[in-house]
Amino acid sequence: MPDHSSFSKNRHGRFRQSDILRHLFETVVERCLVQGLVGAEGFAVDASLIAADANKQRSVSGAEWSAQEAKENAGRSVQEYLAVLDDAAFGAASPVTPKFVSPSDPAAQWTGAHKGHAFFAYATNYLIDTDHGVILDVEATRAIRQAEVGASRTMIDRTENRFGLKPGYLVADSAYGSADNLAWLVKEKEIAPHIPVFDKSNRTDGTFSRANFNWDGEGDRYICPAGKELVQFRRTYATPRSGITSEGTRLYRASKKDCDACELKQRCCPNAVARKVPRDLNEDARDVARAIAGTPDYERSRHRRKKVEMLFAHLKRILRMARLRLRGPCGARDESLLAATAQNLRRLAKLRPSRLPAAMTA
Ligand code: SF4
Repeated sequence: MPDHSSFSKNRHGRFRQSDILRHLFETVVERCLVQGLVGAEGFAVDASLIAADANKQRSVSGAEWSAQEAKENAGRSVQEYLAVLDDAAFGAASPVTPKFVSPSDPAAQWTGAHKGHAFFAYATNYLIDTDHGVILDVEATRAIRQAEVGASRTMIDRTENRFGLKPGYLVADSAYGSADNLAWLVKEKEIAPHIPVFDKSNRTDGTFSRANFNWDGEGDRYICPAGKELVQFRRTYATPRSGITSEGTRLYRASKKDCDACELKQRCCPNAVARKVPRDLNEDARDVARAIAGTPDYERSRHRRKKVEMLFAHLKRILRMARLRLRGPCGARDESLLAATAQNLRRLAKLRPSRLPAAMTA
């Protein structure tokens, strides 16, 4: 028997350098492909929080912790974090200083996303095929939405490059429904987004929301509930203007004359001279997602999305991976890869015999 230290030395040394765990994971995915368990009609993506091996009592406030100071006497997990400071899945995911940082595992994110007690966590991200729930890719990231959305793109690209698979649709929850992400799916990847639109334009004070204004794409204008038009420009400028605001939107304005004489003004813009409606540069991608929502295909794919949630429930309850045993981004990645490999092997074992010819299973 090898000495116990051989396992950890190999894991930190030659296993990581050779990327053997990813190779193992992808080999199992290939077996699933060969067995016909992946239809690639639709994929589902989601993330789940896994508690990190980091203690709140030993944490410091985010404002006090500095990467520069941590460089001196940095342990392995800190060195790993410093190496991914510019990585979109970790350091570059958000410029916001976290409330607390664990000096022993600074990549772990202090999060209250479970609505209960806040804790240090990583996110494990799964991209699955919705036919049989085979995990096609897995990625460990910081436990924040921006990193999780970035991971979904990384996994879709990697699955296409590695296995030549691109889905007809992607199903996900509203965390993935920003205009920017929908535009990437619709325009760049040509994947139908079965995703609820992330839209904060609904007003709660009783005045008309943007949804009450009808978009006329051909005329490049909105039509208000009173039937008047809202346009970007009401005169021609000697130097043409882009009309794009610093928030990446175009502003459509009603005319003061129309609004002054309008019976609906109190329900529309009681505190402004005329109504303005902003339109995101990628609103057309949002419109594609809105048009898909509510269709029978959408309802079917929403139901199929539950497979990814069931995999996370299995991961935590049966495989007991509610808390990571290893620290640092590489530890989170290794554990996520191993767990996803085990889940795929289980799926392969469960589904494969019924697909083999009777003579081979006898
Ligand atoms: S207030 Fe102006 S924008 Fe609003 S409904 Fe009346 S005319 Fe249309």
